Amino acid sequence: MSAPAILPGATLGVMGGGQLGRMFVHAAQRMGYFTAVLDPDPDSPAGRVSHRHVHADYLDEKGLAELAGCSAAITTEFENVPAPALAKLARLKPVAPGADAVEIAQDRIREKAHFSRCGVACAPYAAIETQQQLDAVPAALLPGILKTARLGYDGKGQQRVATREQLAAAWAAAQRVPCVLEQLLPLAAECSVIVARGADGTMVHLPPQLNLHRDGILAVTQVWEGALPREQAQQAIAAAESIARGLDYVGVLCVEFFVLADGALVVNEMAPRPHNSGHWSMDGCDLSQFELQVRTLAGLPLAPPRQHSAAVMLNLLGDLWFDGDKPRTPPWEAVLQLPGAHLHLYGKLSARPGRKMGHLNLTGASAQQARGTALAAARLLGIEPF
Ligand code: ATP
Ligand code: MG
Repeated sequence: MSAPAILPGATLGVMGGGQLGRMFVHAAQRMGYFTAVLDPDPDSPAGRVSHRHVHADYLDEKGLAELAGCSAAITTEFENVPAPALAKLARLKPVAPGADAVEIAQDRIREKAHFSRCGVACAPYAAIETQQQLDAVPAALLPGILKTARLGYDGKGQQRVATREQLAAAWAAAQRVPCVLEQLLPLAAECSVIVARGADGTMVHLPPQLNLHRDGILAVTQVWEGALPREQAQQAIAAAESIARGLDYVGVLCVEFFVLADGALVVNEMAPRPHNSGHWSMDGCDLSQFELQVRTLAGLPLAPPRQHSAAVMLNLLGDLWFDGDKPRTPPWEAVLQLPGAHLHLYGKLSARPGRKMGHLNLTGASAQQARGTALAAARLLGIEPF
């Protein structure tokens, strides 16, 4: 039997104070929960809006004890939270997702092994942890992408290599830490699926999301009936569900896929938390990925989410705060004149190129309308059309 639900009025804790934590805090507070955030940065986006902010390092014993002391249950908002910290918290309070699942998602080698166990195909790859493994890399994996097994995000820790010489140099540049070499696949598209799974095994999902990445960073997400061929969408949902089930996962999980030219789906990676590609759900769906995270953590019922509007999400990167070298404020007033425009900014104090400062959701009664508005917003902001 599952534990009794944690009802509004209780305090929900979160490890990490970034924008995902901030949107979790907003969703929890809307439902009447109190919140506590652990993050070392006094200006963290989530810490600044939470009822309680524990300023401590992720492995700090006292900070962890304080977070556990004031929280009825604890979740995480970024996947590089040290798994030992989650394991420590789990001895004191319910923690979801669990340290085991987070640990697998933190390591590309273990993650890919999990995908294979679930019968879901990933890009052809080789693990590179030793010189012997480097020497034995099959020629078919070149050209490829060398990715550090741990600690990569937004395309960081990745190098494209075309020859064995480049591969050896790239591994040396990566300080010979454990890596994977993935074959560079010709992508027709990319998509992702967000599932939420409760402690009792109940699972719901958001509609599959069509994603466009630029320079290794998500730029645009589009979601409407037919954005992906029906069969492909079904296949992506089934794969994401089987990956979550195989982890006995509790919480919100995002699984990212590559779509190849022949329509075949190949899993890329998973994130043990809400994901940038699910931000559209805040305005296009009756349940957002953050409310789903609250519900899974609190043991509340998981009703199936219903998309009520076609939606496009534009990521607002720090580049938009510059005109060449000159700082500027993006033209919010013009953007907000567009019907169906919903602005989300994360309260970050300084903009840097490539830094995720916020996102803009554009909703409409039809795909055509949402896309039209999104293209108009992109033009106003100086985002390349898609
Ligand atoms: P994040 O965690 O922010 O999603 P990441 O740093 O973990 O990003 P990946 O998801 O591995 O990086 O890759 C980022 C992007 O690079 C992918 O979305 C895709 O556009 C491209 N890419 C990655 N691997 C391959 C591949 N094997 N073949 C072709 N393109 C790839
Ligand atoms: Mg990715």
